[in-house]
Amino acid sequence: MMADIDITIIGAGIVGLAIVKELSEKYESIVVVERHSSFGQEASSRNSEVIHSGIHYPPGSLKANLCVEGNRMLYDICEKNGIGYEKLGKFTVATDEEEIGILEDLKQRGEENGVDGLVLYEPTEIKKIEPCVRAKLAIYSPSSGIIDSHGLMKHFADATKSKGALVVYNSEVTDIKKGNFGFKFKVKNSDGTTEDFTTKILINSGGLDSDKIAEMAGIDMDEAGYRLHPCKGDYFSWNKKSLNHLIYPVPEKFSIGIHAGLDLNHDIKFGPNAYFVNKIDYGVESEKEEFYNSIRKYLPTIDINDLSPAMSGIRPKLQTQDEDFRDFVICHESERGLAGLINLVGIESPGLTAAPAIAKYLSETVDTVYNNL
Ligand SMILES: Cc1cc2nc3c(=O)[nH]c(=O)nc-3n(C[C@H](O)[C@H](O)[C@H](O)COP(=O)(O)OP(=O)(O)OC[C@H]3O[C@@H](n4cnc5c(N)ncnc54)[C@H](O)[C@@H]3O)c2cc1C
Repeated sequence: MMADIDITIIGAGIVGLAIVKELSEKYESIVVVERHSSFGQEASSRNSEVIHSGIHYPPGSLKANLCVEGNRMLYDICEKNGIGYEKLGKFTVATDEEEIGILEDLKQRGEENGVDGLVLYEPTEIKKIEPCVRAKLAIYSPSSGIIDSHGLMKHFADATKSKGALVVYNSEVTDIKKGNFGFKFKVKNSDGTTEDFTTKILINSGGLDSDKIAEMAGIDMDEAGYRLHPCKGDYFSWNKKSLNHLIYPVPEKFSIGIHAGLDLNHDIKFGPNAYFVNKIDYGVESEKEEFYNSIRKYLPTIDINDLSPAMSGIRPKLQTQDEDFRDFVICHESERGLAGLINLVGIESPGLTAAPAIAKYLSETVDTVYNNL
């Protein structure tokens, strides 16, 4: 049996689109299958739109390496293709003695990860640059910035189309079977009809459902360590434009903390916090007081009445309450007898920053897999 398609990617979020853009430069028969009516309807449009520097992740991890590389690639892609961005820099602030130690470790970790230009700022220097911010010490990271993530996804989708690859919407993958020659998969269309296709290579970039997709293909998600724990983060907007840089507290266990994020108009949102959920509901559930109490440690003059619920996003987290760190899973499943299946699981932050580097990394795997089929 010949496969209909050479390479199928499940999911048109930023990662699926970055992958199809990269692969469409060298392969002709590529299809992205997306259940929604357009791209980027899940995590990729519900995030802080920050181009991270890479200081947060353990040295040697995929998160660290792909973030640092993705950071450099993203600025270049934005510059060459007219995508909105601003390299405005970020202060990570310590507000007490204990946090100073955490901050110093963070700087060292960032340097080990190859993040350039990290500098420590004393309180008087911080006050001159960001008069509203109170900190005992801060790390400035000049390579942090913000990006128009919709513009980036549109660029990848358009570039892909011009190369002849297809992004098919309103199509949900509901079943996957290993065949003699690749994979057979079932797609449910929005009118309820179903169609079967075959593909030589199947790339699972299904975000919050990537664990279920891996299971559809025959992998026990618990045995493989792929079970995802959706972890929600809410945002509150601030009706003041009183900051010019990203301001982050020291990181917490499940998130990098309720930070002040700016968009390209310099409107400010605070968030995300982090709490585990068992259903996908994007309503803001957190209390304003939680945000106020956290933010006022570094912005002491903030008025709680100036905060309003804004939006939320849900992280596809591999990490459980008992674990300190889980890396991205990017795995060709040949050892599980599923040659040709590549799973991407747990692509939480810094997945937006890392997306082009993930695509480059994966492209090398795809070349090897394709040549050995
Ligand atoms: C609150 C929050 C803040 C964040 N902030 C940042 C940040 O500032 N900087 C940063 O670098 N990263 C950030 N991230 C991480 C970043 O947003 C994600 O890593 C990235 O968007 C993941 O992209 P994705 O394509 O893997 O997933 P998604 O965007 O979730 O896309 C997955 C796609 O797969 C589709 N799909 C799933 N199952 C099926 C199926 N069976 N059939 C067809 N289609 C299917 C879905 O519909 C979806 O469109 C943040 C994430 C969150 C949640």
